[in-house]
Amino acid sequence: MKKFLFAMMLVVLMSCAAFGDDLAGTGINYMVLVNKTHSLPDGWEEMLKTVHITNSVGDDVEVEKKAYEAYLLLKEDLLKNDNIEIELDSARRSVAEQMDIVERFTKKYGPEYTAKTVATPGYSEHHTGLALDLYFRLDGKDIYYNEDMVKYPEIWEKIHAKLAKYGFILRYLEGKDNITGYSYEPWHIRYIDDPELAKKIMESGLTLEEWLNKKTQTLRKVILDTDTAYLNDDAFAIFVLAQADKLGMLDFLGITTTGGNVFLAEATTAALRQLELIGRSDIPVYQGTDEPLAGFRNMIEEAKLY
Ligand SMILES: [Zn+2]
Repeated sequence: MKKFLFAMMLVVLMSCAAFGDDLAGTGINYMVLVNKTHSLPDGWEEMLKTVHITNSVGDDVEVEKKAYEAYLLLKEDLLKNDNIEIELDSARRSVAEQMDIVERFTKKYGPEYTAKTVATPGYSEHHTGLALDLYFRLDGKDIYYNEDMVKYPEIWEKIHAKLAKYGFILRYLEGKDNITGYSYEPWHIRYIDDPELAKKIMESGLTLEEWLNKKTQTLRKVILDTDTAYLNDDAFAIFVLAQADKLGMLDFLGITTTGGNVFLAEATTAALRQLELIGRSDIPVYQGTDEPLAGFRNMIEEAKLY
């Protein structure tokens, strides 16, 4: 009969927050992911609160309320401190509007061309009301067309530097077409309602797709409970876990010890020595109880059974 031979490994799976289609409470999820493969969540349009404004070229622009308030602060900051006057080209497009566009294009150019050039209704980030396309005014002139806007990288650089401060991120980064499905667009910004998080995302150089993917892969947290850590399976487990921790594959929180194969003090010493040996004395060791929860066994009595 095996007695306390195997150490128990506790793998605690931390709950991962669900992203993308999570509409918590009555508010909208400002971290929502809408792209060519993720559609606008059900019920989004009913919940969305927007404002309408008229831009400098006379177009009506509809924007999610909080995103618009943040945009105004960004606009004010850029105007005051960088002498850059930004404007809103377009922001929200409803699913119905997108369907109209598809219909018009299909009639005029045929389904093949339409599929290539117009986003599928339900799969455009502009449906969210949180995606804003900017343009700017220079010396009293509107720099409005894409081909003109790309001629001013130094202006975009200054705009991008201030996005996070107001809870915006740049959405379609350079060289990430294969991930976002779009080429670099310096004008397309996205409101996420969290300046601190926006700063982290902008500094990471990751797209929203990559960032959310990283977040859902929250590292498993591992605690190893051992009754002996000499040159045996437990020592090997410590080594493997420490290596995996080092490689960022999991989060090795620590070791707990218990009496078992050897007495408690010996088990603790062995665990500490093993960690020292592999150069990971930074991993904490917590000494547990010498006595099993069910009490000590009477070895002499048990031996009679065999
Ligand atoms: Zn856009």
